[in-house]
Amino acid sequence: MSTPAIQNVVILGATGSVGASALDVISRNPERYSVFALTAHHQVERLARLCLRHSPRYAVIADEAAANHLRRLLRAAFSTTEVLCGAQGLCEVARAPAAGTVLAAIVGAAGLEPALAAVRAGKKVLLANKEALVVSGQLFMDAVESSGACLLPIDSEHNAIFQSLPAHYQRDPEAAGVRRILLTASGGPFRNTPLQALEAVTPEDACAHPVWNMGRKISVDSATMMNKGLEVIEARWLFGTPANRIEVVIHPQSVVHSMVDYVDGSVIAQLGNPDMRIPIAHALAWPERVHSGVSALDLFSIATLNFERPAFERFPCLALAYQAIEAGGTMPAALNAANEEAVAAFLDRRLGFCRISEVIAATLERAERDEASTLEAVLEADARAREVARGEIGKRGPS
Ligand code: NDP
Repeated sequence: MSTPAIQNVVILGATGSVGASALDVISRNPERYSVFALTAHHQVERLARLCLRHSPRYAVIADEAAANHLRRLLRAAFSTTEVLCGAQGLCEVARAPAAGTVLAAIVGAAGLEPALAAVRAGKKVLLANKEALVVSGQLFMDAVESSGACLLPIDSEHNAIFQSLPAHYQRDPEAAGVRRILLTASGGPFRNTPLQALEAVTPEDACAHPVWNMGRKISVDSATMMNKGLEVIEARWLFGTPANRIEVVIHPQSVVHSMVDYVDGSVIAQLGNPDMRIPIAHALAWPERVHSGVSALDLFSIATLNFERPAFERFPCLALAYQAIEAGGTMPAALNAANEEAVAAFLDRRLGFCRISEVIAATLERAERDEASTLEAVLEADARAREVARGEIGKRGPS
């Protein structure tokens, strides 16, 4: 077999949980991947350590003050990595001609513009940042189509669906004989918690996910199941599947990462240990396979796989996500913005756990639906929803 050309990889969000998994896979396959750029927001020292270990050509950090701090740390260690900053720096490395692959792993709508810059530049884009698709699904997919970018999902469920669809799937479920997508969910840490006890949930409780080890925002989203709601929207855009053909299935072991149900009654699933290095390695090497560092699945020790229907009264955020998709236009952007504000307030102990869904519901009620046809329109909807959500958070408080 001939040796593939080295892929120059940009990791947007390198200091996060997905970023760490990606760097681990890259380090295991140095003959295939080289780190071209690493980015972070506030964790300057962590980014400096990553730069010294992986020697990227560029590093990007939030602002000029942080960039100067990073430059000093790198210079002291004789590093030649060039430091850029801000949204402009992120977009610059995402579309740099020498970068072949861009891993979009910034958390939240902040990741939209650099991910879109990579897509518009026709890169191979590995998408973890689901919020980008939630906020601007149509625009994003139109950009993929017109630029010829290769978009590969690394959210584990979407990666599983991608692997379970026919090789040349064209975002047309009818043509491929797809009846339904079965999107699995762990159910998070509060699947069986008495509803009254949810009032007392702390950020530490919500971030203690029973199966996955993830960043704090997505951990809270998993606890409310807003994560699954965002993933339904993500799947809708990635696979061209209407929301009524995407069914959420709670599967506490998180071994079946999702399934595709075909009209002939066949159901194709992808299974594996719950470790983000699997979908990351799959997408980096696609259509080939590389070692990810994840151990082989031991079905005998797992022994049992369970499946349950989600209860909307326990997980109101999931119902709100379906409502936002149904309303369409800029409503998913408003949903996402309200959720980001409410989760940040909860993590900051300014809002109670059960108030997260109330803030989102109140924001959606007051949101005006516009067409999501331009980036300006979605960013404006995002900004308006954040302002309303902040007011709603202020009315409620931490209890
Ligand atoms: P983390 O919180 O662990 O990491 C987020 C990364 O984004 C960090 O590098 C952070 O920098 C950077 N960042 C945060 N805010 C900004 C900003 N405003 N501008 C630029 N960079 C920013 O998140 P995760 O790795 O858990 O998740 C990343 C994305 O992947 C999310 O969209 C999540 O939904 C998705 N995802 C995550 C999975 C997981 O297992 N963790 C699984 C599937 C999807 P700094 O560290 O300096 O703050």
